Amino acid sequence: MNVVCLDLEGVLVPEIWIAFAEESGIPELKRTTRDEPDYGKLMEYRLGILRERGLGLKEIQETIAKIDPMPGAKAFLDELRAYTQVIIISDTFEQFAKPLMEKLGWPTIFCNTLEVAADGEITGFRMRCPESKLTTVRALQSCGFETVAAGDSFNDLGMIKASKAGFLFKSPDSIKADNPDLPAFDEYGELMAAIREAVD
Ligand SMILES: [Mg+2]
Repeated sequence: MNVVCLDLEGVLVPEIWIAFAEESGIPELKRTTRDEPDYGKLMEYRLGILRERGLGLKEIQETIAKIDPMPGAKAFLDELRAYTQVIIISDTFEQFAKPLMEKLGWPTIFCNTLEVAADGEITGFRMRCPESKLTTVRALQSCGFETVAAGDSFNDLGMIKASKAGFLFKSPDSIKADNPDLPAFDEYGELMAAIREAVD
């Protein structure tokens, strides 16, 4: 049985922190792992800014609710889910993803969890496991699934390379150039055709 494992940000929805920074007018939140490679440090920095601004989970979810999936993303996902099994595997947090999952028709997502106090303040975060995308794909394979994976960024390369077929989608030129062996697409129609070929 096949499972298609899809990245979320940059593939189906915009980068959540960047879109949130724009929507909320807090440019400091545009800092990414390219500026601060230590993800734990980056998250502490982001949560510190949210605390300073008095932004709790409710305010953040209201802002994220104004962000839309990429044009064509829902139709692509609907078609793919009617055709085979799909899991979105993301490094984001379930509470941030929720307003976007609603707009995508509640697909299955495996991601991480924010720790939230009773008053809505985000006090911390829990990562599900190390190298979550690769670890999840290997776990699916260990119980009899064949995986096909697609994503746009460095953190997707593990699951893409470990799958029976893997694709770059809407990736920056630098990642495409570093991985010339991986098929790269920018249109949902092209990705759908490649996935169907791999699954059939
Ligand atoms: Mg991504």
